[in-house]
Amino acid sequence: MEPEKMDENEWNYHGEGNKSLVVSHAQSCVVLRFLKFLPNINKSTEEVYQHLHNILDFGKHIMKPFLGENYVHHGEVVKLPLDFLKSLCLKVQSDRPESRCEKEMDVSGYAMCLPNLTRLQTFPFLECRPIFCIEIKPKCGFIPSSAHITNEIKKKVCRFCMHQHLKVAKGKWKRISKYCPLDLFSGNKQRMHFALMNLLQESQNNLKVFKNGELIYGCRDDQEHFLDLNELAHNLKPFFYPASGLISGPQCPKTVVKELIHILTTVLLNNSTDTARAANIMPIIPLSQGRNYCEASHFCPHLSNSKHATEATGLPKGCILYKTLQAQMLDMLDIEGLYPLYKRVEKYLEEFPEERSTLLLDGPYDETFFEKLKDLSLEDDGTISYAVTKIQQYRVAMTAKDCSIMIALSPAVQEECLDPRSVIRSTTSSFIHSVSILDLDLKPYENIPHQYKRDSKIVNHYLKSIKVQE
Ligand code: ATP
Ligand code: ZN
Ligand code: MG
Ligand code: MG
Repeated sequence: MEPEKMDENEWNYHGEGNKSLVVSHAQSCVVLRFLKFLPNINKSTEEVYQHLHNILDFGKHIMKPFLGENYVHHGEVVKLPLDFLKSLCLKVQSDRPESRCEKEMDVSGYAMCLPNLTRLQTFPFLECRPIFCIEIKPKCGFIPSSAHITNEIKKKVCRFCMHQHLKVAKGKWKRISKYCPLDLFSGNKQRMHFALMNLLQESQNNLKVFKNGELIYGCRDDQEHFLDLNELAHNLKPFFYPASGLISGPQCPKTVVKELIHILTTVLLNNSTDTARAANIMPIIPLSQGRNYCEASHFCPHLSNSKHATEATGLPKGCILYKTLQAQMLDMLDIEGLYPLYKRVEKYLEEFPEERSTLLLDGPYDETFFEKLKDLSLEDDGTISYAVTKIQQYRVAMTAKDCSIMIALSPAVQEECLDPRSVIRSTTSSFIHSVSILDLDLKPYENIPHQYKRDSKIVNHYLKSIKVQE
């Protein structure tokens, strides 16, 4: 990226979350990810630079070895000319959803440059081939079993399903989604199909579809956006039925959606090639610790012809869902068990504020930090060191509960000689694919009290609303 040649006209608004805003380059497969801040927060250029470097280090030294080399792209921090930034900020403003405009794009001079994961990663030389990409924000895929939990409902109904009630009550979404993360993470194909179907029908901000890098389906965040599954099927049909032409052809939308779900399930369960390495790095957390189904899930096992639909997880150890779940499960104490440890550290810091850097609460995110994450012991010896380790594991887990999985698929051309591992087959066509995980920023330490309050708010609201229904 040459600073003197930066032209805002070559960049388009791509999307944003609560913490960052992303623009994509019109031709090449890169995006710029900018931080966002409330207007009254004045961050110095140096602070922004440091923050971006922390994000990069965390991706590179923590999430990459944890989740797998191929899945994580840590990107690089780039310096950009101020006039470019100002024009770009103006240019994208009109494309931003109103609900996200409370925060402003940071224009102090630095951004993260990343590969555009909605375009294919494995074959960068094939930039202009047709491609579509599904982004899934799966959320937390397990039910906690911590002894610190005070409300039994948390051991029966998953966080996502409980949170739905509060979100609908607050008007964030119109309807309750029938997606339950535990169905997606079950490894059971029928439950996964059910989960993906519900994600497609009520996407909220958990599913987006991009075609040739452009968003074609999914809520543009909080905006009410009419989603038409038939139209999506129509848009994706040429990918699945290349021979039958663009518009007509006998396949009904239902068949296309079924094919899509089938291919997504295959990719999500696909064993990655760098399994061995990642498995050796982190100790494996037994998946059977908690329950593997959620009482609020709409999936009815008796309707399916599999007796084993709710039995132990069948996730292959190298697949993206398994790895994501392992990272999420670093939250072993639940916020209720963690909050007292946070208070222990806070009390200590009140007395010894200069110790904050020794505790490595804000990085550096390096080998030492990674090594400490491996300590899964739950024996509290009353030390600050124990508290800090659990806090850091919790923060990593929260990050994994909030990340997005990107699945990019492009039709394989017969005469291409490809690595067979990158080819995925549906009944009618073959795809080359790439899978990545994005949005891997470490959640802030300061967020913990907020998480604690939110947890009880979600649970209490859920209990109230199911009582009303009874
Ligand atoms: P959240 O509120 O979920 O924490 P965030 O503010 O951290 O989100 P991101 O999730 O990183 O922001 O980015 C917002 C959106 O931009 C993503 O959901 C995705 O659609 C898109 N995006 C981000 N990074 C990339 C990338 N490297 N390639 C393609 N699209 C991307
Ligand atoms: Zn659930
Ligand atoms: Mg984020
Ligand atoms: Mg995000």
